[in-house]
Amino acid sequence: MALIKCPECGKEYSDSAISCPNCGYTAGNQKNLKKMGQGIKEGMKGLNTTASPKKKSVCVKLSIIPFVAIVMGIIGGNLNNDALIAICGLLAICSGACNFYVGNFKKGLLYTLTCGGFLVGAVMDLVHLKVTGTFKDANGYPVIY
Ligand SMILES: [Zn+2]
Repeated sequence: MALIKCPECGKEYSDSAISCPNCGYTAGNQKNLKKMGQGIKEGMKGLNTTASPKKKSVCVKLSIIPFVAIVMGIIGGNLNNDALIAICGLLAICSGACNFYVGNFKKGLLYTLTCGGFLVGAVMDLVHLKVTGTFKDANGYPVIY
């Protein structure tokens, strides 16, 4: 257990405390925020961003797997009906799993039932993840790390 200095009022308090007992400041205690499944507040490239503690790489991998399968099918020239059904299944599972991972259970279930929101939803998630950085977890924090 260590003492950390409160950035708000300057008083020292235990790092196992969720907030400063003196003024109630919470955002500086990253370790406990992570533990609580909330966002990690961090000065990223000078921007004061609150990010999701969920790993971006996990979401990207889950989102990309079905597209790799589609490309492999096209290159291999064996994109018959069986392969398409298999890819749809993979898309459903992976896009659903990505949303389950970040805690969006309703969206995850919807994606599992609709093959990644009829592909469009899965593509949008990937764009939000890789391009715009606006893919959010269940708490509304962007998954950017
Ligand atoms: Zn304080």
